[in-house]
This record gives sequence, C-alpha cells and structure tokens, in this order.
Amino acid sequence: MLQPEIEFLKEETPIQITIDGPAGAGKSTVAKAVAAKLNFVYIDTGAMYRAVAWLADRHDVTMDDHSGLAKLAAKADIRFENNPSGVQKIICNHIDVTDMIRSPRISRLVAEVASVAGVRQALVKMQQSLAADHHVVMDGRDAGTVILPKAQYKIFLTATVEERARRRMAQIKDQGQSQSLDEVIRDMKIRDYQDEHRSNSPLIPAEDAIILDCTNLSLDETVAEVLKIVQAGKKKT
Ligand code: C5P
Repeated sequence: MLQPEIEFLKEETPIQITIDGPAGAGKSTVAKAVAAKLNFVYIDTGAMYRAVAWLADRHDVTMDDHSGLAKLAAKADIRFENNPSGVQKIICNHIDVTDMIRSPRISRLVAEVASVAGVRQALVKMQQSLAADHHVVMDGRDAGTVILPKAQYKIFLTATVEERARRRMAQIKDQGQSQSLDEVIRDMKIRDYQDEHRSNSPLIPAEDAIILDCTNLSLDETVAEVLKIVQAGKKKT
C-alpha cells in the first residue's frame, strides 16, 4: 500500500534505502515489507551470494578455487521475479533456486564464497545496475557502505544472537527443514564472525547509518520504525 504522505515518492532522483546487519536480524522480511509499503523495488543481495554458493556446490567448484568462484559469479544470470502474491523468486541460470539457497548447507558455504574479492566485484556490479533508475530498498551486509554509499537512508538492523537464531529457526521450520537451536546459534556465530572479519567489505555499519536494535520489536514495529526514520528524513549526522 502506498503512503501518499511520503513526499519523496514524487522525487525523480531514485531514492535508496539500505538495510544492513547480521544474519537473522530480519533484514529481508523488514526490507520486503518496507518496499511493499512504499512501492519500491526490493533487492535481496544475500540471495545473490547464496545463488553463487549454490552454483559452486552444483558445479563442484571448491572454496579455495577463487578464480573459479569469481568466474561463476561473473557468468551467473541472477534475476528476481515478483509474483502478484508478493513472493519474490530468485532465478539463477534459469532455475528457480528460491528454496534451495536457504538450506543449512548453502548457509554454511555462503560466507566463504562471499569473502572472495572476484565474487564481490561481480555481484556489486550487478547490484548497482539492478538499483539504477528505481526507488529501492536493498538489504545485505555492505549495501550502505559499498554498493550504494550515497543512499539517502541507511539502517543497520541488529538483534541479539539468541533472538536472531530463534527467528531463523522459525524460517527453517516453515521450509520443512530441521536444525537444533544450538546448531543454528553456532552456525550464526561462525557466519557473523566470517562476515565481520573478512578483508573485503566486512560487515560494519556505515558511518551515516542509523542503528536499529529490534530484539524486542515485532516485525510490524520494526517496519514502522524504519518508515518513521524515512518519513522523518532522519539521518545520522
Ligand atoms: O542475508 P543472508 O543471510 O541471506 O546473506 C547470506 C550471506 O551472504 C551472508 O552471511 C554474507 O556472507 C553474504 N552477504 C554479503 N554481502 C551482502 C549480502 C550477503 O557478503 N551484501
């Protein structure tokens, strides 16, 4: 539903809202809901790294073969398809990988794939071109720092690791998969560590990002907070 009171919808310059943060904070759910409210395009950059990890797994490209991984990323045809019910599908090399890229196996591989400079170069280029000429909400780890450094609104969404793991458990269950809470917490901590400590585009809030801790907020409350920040034209100074 459009929010007519949001003045910038009349602007011609593309409006960019970035939502970065650690795994499981709810970035994609929040970003999707904010995009739907504003009628913006939603770009899930994590899904693109997951698609490359899925390709590597499928083609037996090992994690130490950085040039092989970079080539896979550069040649990958990754598209988002939005269907009328609001479900966004991700199509990689003409295959619907929407569910497959969320498996625990791909979740374990993806941070390694995402630490390869050549993979990042290829995907950042694709992400910037997907965002060109549209009002967008983009979520990821480096959306506000590297992909869209000039974004008008930058949010860094976070929550405690226990709360993030509980939310991820619910998603895993919905997908008919199973993993224990301890396992999810362990995998999440490993992935956070890898994302925060890699030399290429580590996970850090942009200097001008607003930090939003949603540990004690429901999804609706978090979406409302983001919209409030955007409506108020609020930026960190
Ligand atoms: O957001 P999601 O958890 O699906 O992202 C999967 C992984 O992709 C992250 O753990 C991170 O390693 C990588 N990623 C990244 N840069 C982004 C988005 C995701 O490195 N912009």
